[in-house]
Amino acid sequence: MRVGVIGGGQLARMLLEDASRLGIEATILAEHADDGAAKEASRVLLGAATDEAALRRLAHEVDVITLDHELVDLEMLGELEASGVIIRPSPHALRCAVDKIEMRTELGKASLPMPAYGIITTSDPTDVAPLGERLGWPLVIKAARGGYDGRGVFVVDDAKRAQAVVDELHAAGIDVLVEEKVAIDQELAALVVRRPGGQSASWPAVETAQVGGVCREVLVPGSLDGSLAAQAEALAVTIAELLGVVGILAVELFVTNGRLVINELAMRPHNSGHWTQDGSVTSQFENHLRAVLDLPLGSTRLTADHVASVNVFGSDDVSDFDHALADSLVIPDAKLHLYGKSPRPGRKLGHVNVAGADGPTVRRHAWMAALALGTPMPPEMEEL
Ligand code: ADP
Repeated sequence: MRVGVIGGGQLARMLLEDASRLGIEATILAEHADDGAAKEASRVLLGAATDEAALRRLAHEVDVITLDHELVDLEMLGELEASGVIIRPSPHALRCAVDKIEMRTELGKASLPMPAYGIITTSDPTDVAPLGERLGWPLVIKAARGGYDGRGVFVVDDAKRAQAVVDELHAAGIDVLVEEKVAIDQELAALVVRRPGGQSASWPAVETAQVGGVCREVLVPGSLDGSLAAQAEALAVTIAELLGVVGILAVELFVTNGRLVINELAMRPHNSGHWTQDGSVTSQFENHLRAVLDLPLGSTRLTADHVASVNVFGSDDVSDFDHALADSLVIPDAKLHLYGKSPRPGRKLGHVNVAGADGPTVRRHAWMAALALGTPMPPEMEEL
């Protein structure tokens, strides 16, 4: 069993951990030799995700190719697939994770719940003002491709500013998705894994907290309403089937006025699923590997009633990271997952998972470990 991973970031690095345990040989296509996964992998090819020669070399070495990010050239992957290379998820499914316009269009055809939206492409650069009148101000303007962690998402109050953002994105050759600004009561994510034949398994939906577009914590089940959580889980299964996703599908959603709307999709292990490493029988990384290699899926059952996963960020407060590490390890039930990056203020360095019987306790313990590592506590977040 040989799997190739496009991208050498932390997701690839965590895939490697499970691949190693299962005796699966993994080759990483990394841009830099010091990328998180490249440092750990025994087999590394150096090259960009959009380097066709490097992709062909990777294809030559492995049975199936998967990805740790979505900054890929779909056309190039499509050509590779047409020449017989197995890519999972397929470029056809992947386009709905790469391109937010494709995603809205495909899910719209199935009448799935989404924010009201409009599209302004570079080939038909209509004025944004009429869309603003239809969707209401403020508007959310998104780069169709290339954004992550809130980069590429702009909230604008008026037509003049909106037009400036659209023009700037168009000048960079990027199509634009324009959305109503949803009054978000809660953010959540649903995770499902699917095999090529259609067998799928899902984890319970989780509550997520973003600050400035960046995920800070994930709570299972958090304060989610049980019926909305079940609806989110069912929606994720529906979408995986609809788009023919193979591997992990993460669906990010909002709760607004007691109902769900879909924000976006990822087709790879996702930050909102890191808790599965310590709170579920099978982690999202292991099940992603099993799915793309068409192996039986592992159980997605929870191993505790509550799980908290808190992201660790670098800060100026920590001058001696080794010391901070020792401090964080004082919390006995905290499971640290560090990505091997050198600490820099604002840089995501890892995450902490805590599983247990009591929601507030696991959350507090996960934060205590993350804070000990220097993670700044965002003022927007609820008091612990
Ligand atoms: P990215 O692809 O960069 O992760 P997202 O589409 O997930 O961007 O948006 C980042 C954040 O911006 C979301 O987590 C949410 O808080 C906010 N956001 C996105 N779309 C909307 C919207 N239509 N209405 C209100 N807030 C939104």
